[in-house]
Amino acid sequence: MSEQFDVIVIGGGPGGYVAAIRAAQLGLNTACVEKWVGRDGKMALGGTCLNVGCIPSKALLDSSKHYAHLKHEFADHGIDAGEVSMDIPRMLARKDSVVGKLTGGVAGLFKANKVKSFHGTGRLLAGREVDVSLTDSDEKVSLQGKHVILASGSVPIALPGIEFDGEYIVDNVGALEFEEVPEKLGVIGAGVIGLELGSVWSRLGSEVVLLEALPDFLPAADADISKQAAREFKKQRLDIRLGTRVKSAEVRKKQVHVTVEDESGESELVFDRLLVCVGRKAFTGNLLSDDSGVELTEKGQIQVDEKSHTTAENVWAVGDCVRGPMLAHKASEEGIAVAELIAGKSAHIHFDTVPWVVYTDPEIAWVGRTQQQLEEEGIAFRSGSFAFAATGRGLALGHATGMVKMLADEETDEILGVHIMGPSASELISECVVAMEFKASSEDIARIVHAHPTLAEAVHEAALNVGGRAIHRVN
Ligand code: FAD
Ligand code: NAD
Repeated sequence: MSEQFDVIVIGGGPGGYVAAIRAAQLGLNTACVEKWVGRDGKMALGGTCLNVGCIPSKALLDSSKHYAHLKHEFADHGIDAGEVSMDIPRMLARKDSVVGKLTGGVAGLFKANKVKSFHGTGRLLAGREVDVSLTDSDEKVSLQGKHVILASGSVPIALPGIEFDGEYIVDNVGALEFEEVPEKLGVIGAGVIGLELGSVWSRLGSEVVLLEALPDFLPAADADISKQAAREFKKQRLDIRLGTRVKSAEVRKKQVHVTVEDESGESELVFDRLLVCVGRKAFTGNLLSDDSGVELTEKGQIQVDEKSHTTAENVWAVGDCVRGPMLAHKASEEGIAVAELIAGKSAHIHFDTVPWVVYTDPEIAWVGRTQQQLEEEGIAFRSGSFAFAATGRGLALGHATGMVKMLADEETDEILGVHIMGPSASELISECVVAMEFKASSEDIARIVHAHPTLAEAVHEAALNVGGRAIHRVN
């Protein structure tokens, strides 16, 4: 006899655990099945994001940023820190402790909200029956849901012939665990993970080379921002080689020999460690029986409609395993929307206003469309920008690199996109997301009082500059 639930969620990452909590808040009897085994051998909730993604990477980014600032910038403030050293095992232990607090926090929230968790691998059968192969035993349990939410996430893409070995050739998991600073670190893919984890080890002393197949750097960002970012990262000694194709990689005598091809021909590079981060793909391994009714797209993602409903009745899917950006906040908002739809409420998310953040130093953040997208779509726009170098707060902080660029419809003045590179760009972008969600004009931001001295004044001045009336720059 199957245990009955209103909602069964498979996957306890930011898509799944948030959906489970919201469903329980709405009075639905909810279960969540998660297979992740934590460092203590027990179930760890939180998925990729909390265990080996967003959170541990940001912990290492913050530790390495403190180290780099102490080493290179504190002297400007008159602070003499003397000889500075880095204890890598302690840095990793701190990262693990941050992760532990958060995964434990989710377990606590499940308990408080009466979400029943099962530690095991869930498989969806016909008629919303879910088989769970328990992790701690050879037993299986059978669950029956009125609704099932699939939130199985994603896994790294491997390059043909270049196998992850967990030691020399690694994915994000391995690159969060190096026990010492690799002298030379090769990174295949100068995307988000390459830039973030490349920055961590570069700040700690690695010679980092990023091998990027595309001829353009960060093409998803606005071109003005990616150009400035490329210059800045070069200054930080990140060696980004565009238009470089990796042909093979082989471990010999504890080093990775990588054959690459660029416009000057083929050559060999030798690294102590190689991080492969060329994108991620939806994970659906062993998740669906042939008669589950759930179909996959050509890309291997779970097929869903605009409300995240799959091709099987009352089976939903959210997060990295479906279309759209692979971002934790997108997964969570989809999870909330699905829980609310199941409870009979109306719910939606706006994909147009999902913000992106790259946690380099300076950070890069954007929402909406880039100038190149507007030009391609033939949309007439006005642009305004403002450099952090002209803000009192940026200069006082000693972090005044970068700018805010705002794009607004030429006729209606509605904000169409905001692009930021600079200190705390990850926080500053929120004001712009709210503005766009409420269909604000650049005039609206220009007329809102922004505290002085703050970094947010750069957003204000960029909005003023759209109308040709910024105060602290020549328009
Ligand atoms: P996941 O977090 O992948 O969770 C899926 C869960 O489902 C996993 O725990 C898995 O064990 C479980 N599962 C799968 N199949 C089964 C099954 N059959 N039975 C039981 N359990 C199952 N995003 C951001 O927004 N900001 C960031 O700063 C950021 N940084 C990142 C850094 C790195 C290094 C990486 C790799 C990713 C980062 N991301 C970031 C992306 C973010 O981690 C993902 O978008 C997010 O985790 C997706 O959430 P999800 O719930 O869809 O999937
Ligand atoms: P990505 O898509 O950001 O970057 C992959 C890069 O690899 C691209 O620039 C691509 O052109 C390049 N590439 C692809 N094949 C290649 C090849 N054969 N040789 C050389 N270069 C090649 O992917 P990622 O960095 O692996 O990250 C995966 C996803 O995880 C991201 O797209 C994002 O959704 C998520 N993530 C988000 C954050 C964040 O929000 N701050 C951080 C990390 C990861």
